[in-house]
This record gives sequence, structure tokens and C-alpha cells, in this order.
Amino acid sequence: MQIIRDLATLRAASAEARRDGRRLALVPTMGALHQGHLALVTAGRQVAQTVAVSIFVNPLQFAPTEDLSRYPRDEAGDLAKLREVGCDIVWMPDVPTMYPPGSATRIEVTGPAEGYEGAARPDHFRGVATVCTKLFSQTQADVAVFGEKDWQQVQVVSRVVADLDLPIRILPHPTVREADGLACSSRNIRLTPEQRALAPLLPRLMVTALDTIRAGAAPGPVLERATRQLQEAGFVPDYLALVQPETLQPWQGGPGRLLAAARLGEVRLLDNMAL
Ligand code: AMP
Repeated sequence: MQIIRDLATLRAASAEARRDGRRLALVPTMGALHQGHLALVTAGRQVAQTVAVSIFVNPLQFAPTEDLSRYPRDEAGDLAKLREVGCDIVWMPDVPTMYPPGSATRIEVTGPAEGYEGAARPDHFRGVATVCTKLFSQTQADVAVFGEKDWQQVQVVSRVVADLDLPIRILPHPTVREADGLACSSRNIRLTPEQRALAPLLPRLMVTALDTIRAGAAPGPVLERATRQLQEAGFVPDYLALVQPETLQPWQGGPGRLLAAARLGEVRLLDNMAL
């Protein structure tokens, strides 16, 4: 496994990996790796001969009020997990490598970037779109694997790739969950034991709400009841919304996606499921 921290070495490794029509898959991450990330690496392995994982805690996608310095970091642990799962290249740039002094270009996305996480975290998707565009350009990857755990992010990045004619395929991967149904997340380790025990109520209520809607109930009242149940249990719900899967406009029948965000203590839990 090659650990790379400078752009010239990355370019050379990418050229080597892509020689003779071989494919390179990229898995962008912010580290603190868990089973969800490792599943993306395995999925990348199935569609490409070489898999690169980027680990970069992107300051651009954090608001000044969000504590970037408290984002969990575990470089040694991450590298051990990547060795075990079988990763070829780890791209670990530092902040000046990604954003040298004078850096002034940002990718601004409307449409699916508006509302939900885009409303809760105003500059978030600008940071995500900018860093992903840079990672795609730096690695020249053929495929990038993204987790459906961050459903809106998949739609935003897919929009960027389509709108900027980027020569890369976005491969979404289903959300990986703990045995009790809670979606794996680097932030889960910040839950207290009591909060951790309560957290799976969010996916459970989502499953129930979707079953009820599938049985013919109107989404509005069903989602209002689920929101109340979350509040009564101690969550601070931000949104629980049924949307069109790609545009994230309000659901109008047909395929739908239930998006959820709720705070439990200091941790913002995100989840989503197909109707
Ligand atoms: P992060 O490091 O949390 O920004 O996530 C890096 C990538 O891993 C993103 O594509 C996420 O959607 C994906 N990811 C995070 N958690 C999960 C999960 N539980 N299941 C599948 N993918 C995930």
C-alpha cells in the first residue's frame, strides 16, 4: 500500500495504475474509518484494478461554528484498516497541498444542494463539491465510490460530474449499518452510552413511517407523528422529509427517499431510506 502526501507522486501513481486501459477507483473520506468506509473500498475493488482512498478532513466543508479540530482523527488506525481490507493507494494531502495560499476557486451547486443539509450547513456543499472536483482531477480516477448514507451528497456530486462533464463515474453504495440498525458514522463514537442505546430509534421510526406510507397513508401526518416520537425520546429533529430521490424536491408519487437529520446531544445523526 502506497501512502502518498504530495501531488507529483500521486500523479505518477495514478498514471501507473491507469496504464494499458486499467481502471482506478477512488473512495474519498475524512478518515476515522469504519465498516461503512471499508465496504466502499471493497466495492471499488470490484470495478477497478486499483483502489485509492483519500483521507482529508476538508476545512472548506465545516462552518466556523462547527469544530473542525474536534473531528475524530486516527491516522495509524485508518492505515491499519486499509491494509487489512486491501487498498493500493492512500492519498493524504495536508491543507496547504489542497488549498495553497491564494487558492480562490470554489464550486457552487444549486438544485440538489439546496435545503436539508444545505440549509442546516450553508457552505457545506460548496466545500464538498470543491474538494471532490479537486480529488477527481488529482487522481484522474475512473470511478468514485460514495456512500448512500450521505444521500444528498451523492446527488450533489453526481450533479457536479454531469454539469462539468467530468470523466468519472459515481458509484453509490448502500448504507452500512450496525447490528441494531444505526447507520455507521465516524461521529457515533461521540455518543454517550445512553445516547448510543437510544440512537437506533431513528432508523426504526423511519422504517415504520415508510411501511405506513407504502400502505397508503399520507406522508405529512405520518412524518409529523414520527417527529413527535423522536422529540419525546430526547432527539432534536431537524428534518424528516420524503423527497424525489435525485432532485430532492418534495415527493410527488413514484420513487421516493426519506431523509432524516436529528441531533442527539452534540451529535447530528443523518439517515435516509428508499420508499
Ligand atoms: P466521511 O468520511 O464520513 O465523509 O465519508 C466518506 C464516505 O463514506 C462518504 O461517501 C460517505 O457517504 C461514506 N459513508 C459514511 N458512512 C457510511 C455508511 N454507514 N455506509 C456507507 N457509506 C458510508
